[in-house]
Amino acid sequence: MSTVLCVLYPDPVTGYPPEYVRDEIPEITVYANGQSAPTPRGPLGFKPGQLVGCVSGELGLRSYLESLGHELIVTSDKDGPDSTFERYLPEAEVVISQPFWPAYLTEERIAGAKKLKLALTAGIGSDHVDLRAAAQAGITVAEVTGSNCVSVAEQVVMLILLLVRNYLPSHTFSEAGGWNIADCVERAYDIEGMRFGAIGAGRIGLAVLQRLKPFGLSLHYTQRHRLAPEIEDDLGLSFHADAESLVRSVDIVNLQLPLYPSTEGFFNDALFAKMKRGAYLINTARGKLVERDAVIRALQSRQIAGYAGDVWFPQPAPLDHPWRTMPFNGMTPHVSGTTLSAQARYAAGTLEILQSYFASAPIREEYLIVDGGNLAGTGSASYQLT
Ligand code: NDP
Repeated sequence: MSTVLCVLYPDPVTGYPPEYVRDEIPEITVYANGQSAPTPRGPLGFKPGQLVGCVSGELGLRSYLESLGHELIVTSDKDGPDSTFERYLPEAEVVISQPFWPAYLTEERIAGAKKLKLALTAGIGSDHVDLRAAAQAGITVAEVTGSNCVSVAEQVVMLILLLVRNYLPSHTFSEAGGWNIADCVERAYDIEGMRFGAIGAGRIGLAVLQRLKPFGLSLHYTQRHRLAPEIEDDLGLSFHADAESLVRSVDIVNLQLPLYPSTEGFFNDALFAKMKRGAYLINTARGKLVERDAVIRALQSRQIAGYAGDVWFPQPAPLDHPWRTMPFNGMTPHVSGTTLSAQARYAAGTLEILQSYFASAPIREEYLIVDGGNLAGTGSASYQLT
């Protein structure tokens, strides 16, 4: 019998289950890059469209795990030495966590997790696990690659429009009984004709570029490897050798890099200073990619016109986190990758990975981040240990 320790975000304060506003969600079987969506064997322990990412939802895993005789512990109590997570960690063979409510698997915690074999991210982005320590301890790290790329890409398009069109203040005026048109529009523009730049054009970054093409922006990108010429031609992309060149040229920047030691603080005062005055920055990748106070300075000095995203450090963000109240922000809690549509895919992918693991069968290469003491599969392409 194995102990599976699963950390999920808390239930809705209005109670569980919620009253669903729709009866079904579209079924997606193949992603844009040809990768097949999760293919677990046997029944899912939930109906797609249900809220399974919170504690009572349990990712729909209980019946599957208990049918094999395993113990499933589900909690949202993840931080501090007295947390439920720390209490059960020494017993756990598998830890499941989500980036939205991350159970930080630090080097110290890994050192105490003597039975841990699999750290599974129900979603995308395993930076909440110390990947070097996991590799050294022989722990496999896997995530459900591809599961919420479109969810995030759609959010990025929404955030661009929210910021550039000054939607949020206009909504606040209307809710408060106002009709202050001039106040609403004094910072509102069309995005047509603007220049957009992607820092990172991987699965999500490219999906954003594809979605923006019909809006009539000029599209730019930078990353270490150039995309295939057909993709560049199809989207009319301009490649920049580095982020500095990109941010000097564009009006809107989307940051879509994985977080690893050398991308921490990627966006700092020096890079903000190179942006066009009045540019916008979107970050749904990771909070630590941006220096916390540098973005506040850039907003206060009007060097940039707005910052929006859903990623913070730490998560959940403390009440007094300055990004909650900085000017011209379009921040939300970390939600973009956990729509009900995304949950159906990453919960099914979590089940698929567990089925492989408990059958001692190979986990899909595209789901692997660390295996056999080193980066593996998708991890080799997306992460660095330094
Ligand atoms: P990918 O690995 O497909 O894409 C990342 C891209 O970043 C690659 O194309 C890579 O290209 C580029 N890149 C990596 N390192 C650098 C660097 N140092 N400089 C410039 N470019 C770099 O990842 P995804 O698109 O699937 O996801 C990106 C991130 O989005 C995830 O790691 C996660 O943190 C975040 N995410 C957030 C979610 C949310 O809910 N907000 C949900 C899902 C993901 P190259 O190797 O050529 O440099």
